[in-house]
Order: sequence, then C-alpha cells, then structure tokens
Amino acid sequence: MNEKKNYHFENFDVSLDTERRSRERHSVDKTTPKKEMPKLQLPKIQAPQMKKPNIPVKTLVIAVVALLLVVLMVFGLVSCASSGDKKNKKDNEQNAMSVEEMILENAKISAAQYDYEKAIADVKGLEKYATDTELQSLVSSWEQAMSTLVEFPHEQITHIFFHSLVYEPELAFDPENGNQADGYNLVMTTVDEFNAIIQSMYDKGYVMVSMHDICTFDEQGNRVDHKIMLPPDKKAFVLSQDDLNYYHVQDGDGIATKLIIDENGKVVNEYKKLDGSVSYGDFDVVPLIDRFVEKHPDFSYKGHKGILALTGYNGVLGYRTDSVYADINDPNLDPDQIEFLENNPNFNYEQERAEAKKVADKMKEDGWEFASHTWGHMTVPASDMDRVQSDTEKWKAYVESIVGKTDVLIFPNGSDLAGTENYDSSIERFNYLVSEGFHMYCPVDSTPYWQQKGDNYFRMSRRNLDGYRMYHNPERCEDLFNVSEVLDKKRPLPVPTMEEVYG
Ligand SMILES: [Zn+2]
Repeated sequence: MNEKKNYHFENFDVSLDTERRSRERHSVDKTTPKKEMPKLQLPKIQAPQMKKPNIPVKTLVIAVVALLLVVLMVFGLVSCASSGDKKNKKDNEQNAMSVEEMILENAKISAAQYDYEKAIADVKGLEKYATDTELQSLVSSWEQAMSTLVEFPHEQITHIFFHSLVYEPELAFDPENGNQADGYNLVMTTVDEFNAIIQSMYDKGYVMVSMHDICTFDEQGNRVDHKIMLPPDKKAFVLSQDDLNYYHVQDGDGIATKLIIDENGKVVNEYKKLDGSVSYGDFDVVPLIDRFVEKHPDFSYKGHKGILALTGYNGVLGYRTDSVYADINDPNLDPDQIEFLENNPNFNYEQERAEAKKVADKMKEDGWEFASHTWGHMTVPASDMDRVQSDTEKWKAYVESIVGKTDVLIFPNGSDLAGTENYDSSIERFNYLVSEGFHMYCPVDSTPYWQQKGDNYFRMSRRNLDGYRMYHNPERCEDLFNVSEVLDKKRPLPVPTMEEVYG
C-alpha cells in the first residue's frame, strides 16, 4: 500500500524515451496459478441507468403526447365553457413557444460546437421552419459552414493532463510542508496557471475532443476509427485529469475537497479552508472548464470535455465511497480514513455512494468521461498478475459502480505495458486488461503527440503541464502557451528537479 501514499510523487516523465528503449518485455508467467479472488461485497446501490435508450424514448414520447392530447380533448369538451379555458390555452401556447426557443438555442450551441448535422436536423424539425425564412437562412449558413470543415489528422492530436489544481498556492507550496510542497511544485498546476493555459489554447484555435472521437471499439473489441471534422484553422486536443479523488493527504494543502451539485444544478467544488469554513465555487479543472465552455462553446467538439482518471482507495470525487468506509472497525482502514470517520460520526456510507453517483451522472451529462487510474494507484507492469486482477476487481466494484463502465486505462506513475513496440498477446497484463474491457491506454510522454493504433487497442501518450514541465522545458509548451506569461508568481522557483525530490 506504499504507492498510494506517494501518489503525488509520481515519476511522470523520467527519461521515458530511454526507459522505453531499455525496457525489457515482461515475461509471461504461465505457471503461476490464478488465486481465487476474495468475493467483494458490492454495496447495494442502484445500477447505473442507461442514459439514452434509443427506441423506447421515442415510443414513450409518442405515447405521452397521445395521452396528453386525449386528456386535453376530454378536458376541452368538459370545460369548454369555463372561464379558465382561455388562460390554459394561452399557457399551452407559451410553453410550446419556449420549447421551440429552447430547441433553437440548443441547435445554435450544437452549430458552435461543429455539430452542424444535429443543429440543422433540430431546426428543420421545428414546426415553423417551413414558413420562417430567418430559420431557413440560418440553416443554409450552417450548411455552408459544414462544407468548409476538414478532417483533423488523428496523429496530430495532442493530449494534455493535469492533477487537481492548486487553489491556494501559499498552502500547497508552504516550505513547512517540506517534501510534499516540493512534490506539489513539481506535478501540480495552479488555478491561475490553468486558466491562462486554457485561454491561450483557445486563442490558438485548440478544440477539446474526446478520445472516443478518435476511435471506439465494437462488441468484439475491434477498433473502429472516426473522423474529426473541424474548420481548417482549428486544432483538436484531448484533456485529462489524474487522481480526481481529493485524497485525505491533500487536506489543508490549498486544493479543492469535493465536487458537488449547487442550487443552480451546476457542478462546482467544495473547498474547506484552514479555519474549518467551507466555500463553493470553481476551484478545479471540471467547473473551470464547464464555465469556460459556457462562455466559449466552440472550445468543445460536440459538447465533449475531458476524461477524468480515478483511483478508488480514498473514494471518488471527494466522496468516501470505498468499501472500507462502511465499517469503522474495518481492519484495512488507514489512520487518515479512521480520522475521517471519527470526525464525521454521522457519515452514512450508502448515502455517500448515492451522492457521488448523482454528481458523476451530472458530469457525464455535461460531457465528461471517466477512466480507470487503477484502484490502488498501482504500477501495472511492476505488479504481479494476482494484484493486477484483484485491483481491477476492486475498481469495478467500487468505482465503476459509481461512474459507469470505461474502456480507458490511464496508467499511474508514468508506467506502460511495453516500449514503443506494439502491444501483443505475449503481454499477460495486456491480455487480461483487454478481456476486462480496457482498449485505450495512456502512458506519459513529453512529445506533442505519440500514438499507436492496434486492432484491439489504442495507445495515446499524454503531456504533463505542471511545474516541472513549465519550468524545466518551457520550449515544449510553446505550441500551447508561453510559459513566461503563465507561470504563477506564487510558485517557488526554481522548481526542483525530479532527482532532488525523488532522490
Ligand atoms: Zn496518479
């Protein structure tokens, strides 16, 4: 369990290229018998609901509309003489208008996000379209814009990632924090730096796409490529965030503590101050990007946002959802977890899981995706098969049950299953992970893009935009932003080297 305590000492990029060259193939150990997995106690929570059951919804809508019509007709016959009738009719007309306006507004957002097909179909579906020349010219302007889109080459899609952002640099980088402060200085990015990076990327024409806009995998696990169609002056990129768990060890270090849904129905952060008071707002990647895309819808391709890598041992999104929290006497609780349960005597495990799921569902609705970062922040190639299997089981039982299925594995500790050579069936961990539904794999690299497409997998390396990268390799950020304009004045300089912090 040592790794989990050192999560922020990830060695993201220690001469990965050298490592790739020298790394040996992992031997296939066929003699080790598979250990029987201890049966995991899956908490009884509602199974994730299917988001869009395709045909039934249409049928349901028709049925509901028909029922409404019948009710309205009966109501009309019975009360046609009543004085309220006129008013009801007016209300209905107004409601109908606002629905049409809503469809039009959403279509405009779809068009801004390069989904002209959807925008055009939605507007053509409006009742007044046939007679409304303004709408007709809007549609033809979109048809014109759609004809100018060009396919963006997959191999030029850069993938950037962050950890939880530092909201109060004075706390994270407090010299009293010693080695931990140095760790944050290396692998974390501040809120101000993040905002400046995103603004610069937007100004340069970057558009956020999903890894699944590049390819998906069919039921047999075969790769299916997709086209990303953008205006010629736009560039696609993928955004990810690691360890969106709000670990106990980060408490009091100037980092957000949770994601919640506020009274306006938006996902925002909870932030616990040192004095114990709590504030809510945009203090980390998810709400900051949500607000940015509200302002600049064209920063997102078809409404798609980033992919969030989760471990499980401290729960997810700031919710203490792992199995150990269910029982204060669980022998597997570590001191931080015991302290949490002691400080929260009213903690209700089932309720905690239900709340986490609500937030995760809302985030998915808002365009976010989730990835496995393994349950225990495990270095996959260095762990034996028994551990790889038990860890995957745990991720599925306690994380997937909240955030839903994913086919993306974002490796912790900058590791990977192979060097630059293709993954193949001689890699035991790869065979197992594919059989568990993982087809997309993300190691770390500092190059703008490195990808590999296999029949049943897609590998895409990611660039860390943190203190280490910005301070030590500003030239490797030039395609995205100018480091001198981004670096937070509150960040202690020089940023230490990997060797200074990790030895
Ligand atoms: Zn990590």
